[in-house]
Amino acid sequence: MLSLPFDPLQRAREVEELVMEGLARKYYRFRPARYYGGIATADLVGCPFLCAYCWNYGRNLHPELSRDRYYSPDEAAKRLLAIMKRKRFNKVRLSGAEPILGQQSFEHLYKVLEGIYKANPVCDFILETNALLIGCEPEFVHRLSQFEGLHIRVSLKGFDEESFEAISGSDGRYFDLPIKGLKDLIEHGINAWPAIMYEIFGPEGTGKINKTLMEYGIRPEELEIEYLEPYPFVLENPKKRSISLHTLYNSKLPRLLRRGRGHIRGHNQKKDTHTPGL
Ligand code: SF4
Repeated sequence: MLSLPFDPLQRAREVEELVMEGLARKYYRFRPARYYGGIATADLVGCPFLCAYCWNYGRNLHPELSRDRYYSPDEAAKRLLAIMKRKRFNKVRLSGAEPILGQQSFEHLYKVLEGIYKANPVCDFILETNALLIGCEPEFVHRLSQFEGLHIRVSLKGFDEESFEAISGSDGRYFDLPIKGLKDLIEHGINAWPAIMYEIFGPEGTGKINKTLMEYGIRPEELEIEYLEPYPFVLENPKKRSISLHTLYNSKLPRLLRRGRGHIRGHNQKKDTHTPGL
């Protein structure tokens, strides 16, 4: 039984053991998705966080129970390339969980990236991450910076230690690590940006995270706002953790932030940026 709050780095190590077999990683599906104007998507299993609004909550809570299969980097890349070819997409992403849990899962990701770019050097690869491990491991940032078409969307889980703990289920003392990871990515010239869930942050939380990002030298206009898809099961856990959801109707959110930022060609901000699980 996982009790909250937990140490997310320890959990990352435990989860990595459950979802990796050598360099093969557990995935639960490969699909074409409408997000970003059409994108080949592979949904993973396993995350160091357990966010209250995660729509992949069950699999991420008990990755060991899912009957999903393991795919080598080569198999995963081939499946994604096949979807891209069939649907005439030029974008690809991993979603549903956290791609980077430690060294082993990073190697898997790196080889998937190599496989994709070897076959299609001009595609856009959108890496959706919570950046916890990126904040711990400068070597990951250095290696990711080799891929020119890589775009990294860092989904932030709180605007201070307290909200981070309530939302992610992790010890609040780890609040800064993802922001540090984001800063490192940007400093290495990678197209990386922060994203937040508006209903969770509200105007006050949005203001607070902007202030923190500025302290890290990250410009407020980089912030992307995403919106919760209100499935009943997605709304249930925030209630259990006493997190009140904000709505746009009573929002004082500045117009600029409502629009968010379109980093990727054909990217529809409001609909397309909801990240299943991230
Ligand atoms: S929302 Fe994202 S970061 Fe949070 S538990 Fe789900 S997959 Fe992990």
